[in-house]
Amino acid sequence: MTDPELPTPVLDNHLHLDPRHGRGMDAVKDFRNLGGTHLLVVNKPSWHLGVEADDPEDFRAVFEETVDVVAEADELLDGGAWPVLGVHPGLISRLVDERGFSADAARELMQGGLSVAAEYVADGDALALKSGRPHYEVPDAVWDASNAVTKHAFTLGAEHDCAVQLHTEASEDLSELADWAAERGLEPERVVKHYAAGRLRGPTPSVMSERDRLERAAERGEPFLMETDFVDDPDKPGAVLGPKTVPRRVRWLLEEGYEDAVRIAHVETPNRVYGIDTEATLDA
Ligand SMILES: [Zn+2]
Repeated sequence: MTDPELPTPVLDNHLHLDPRHGRGMDAVKDFRNLGGTHLLVVNKPSWHLGVEADDPEDFRAVFEETVDVVAEADELLDGGAWPVLGVHPGLISRLVDERGFSADAARELMQGGLSVAAEYVADGDALALKSGRPHYEVPDAVWDASNAVTKHAFTLGAEHDCAVQLHTEASEDLSELADWAAERGLEPERVVKHYAAGRLRGPTPSVMSERDRLERAAERGEPFLMETDFVDDPDKPGAVLGPKTVPRRVRWLLEEGYEDAVRIAHVETPNRVYGIDTEATLDA
């Protein structure tokens, strides 16, 4: 049952669901019962699912698992759920530091994995791609390789007409990344920085749903999305926002008089970035 007091679609733009290790569909029900309607579910890092990729095809198992989970979540929601597939940028450190890959070999594997993810977009089984670069200090060769991977994701986004979610260092100015996307034919607004603060130059911010960050985004009046980055990992229960957070914060934004911002984050920006209509996809 959706909350009758929330007269709007409610989209969490970035979370993970892991029925094998975590709460899975119980988390989706928590989201729904508070008024949540739409989810963009990002595949977990491949090694968290026990996949130590050597070949781009190895990522397929990770993507298949996410597609299956999303189909289940979709059934539970009044709106819908879509997969966002890609290769976690932290993988490069695992490959280089622990598995003996050169930066170049890691780049090649990760670019290949993204090309496999793009096949799912082409087939209509995924909505968008996920890429980016480490948020921590890395050697120059690893940094350059990560940027090359990200550029490949932009090329694929342009080719398949889909958005690209990015994991990056914390920053309020990523206009350089937006420029790289534009140079490859992908509109910068279709590049989404996940885990964003309330302000950002360049890509569209997907704002972590903490009150201060949301207030900044709402005051700005520019396109933004809301997310929790719920990781659905029983070993990290307090590390992230829970699945109830976005509907709760939407309620709070409405109480504070930010109706326009709620419409921007849950109707207009999802449409501009992903081409999804969160109102038309609501069950009557
Ligand atoms: Zn995440």
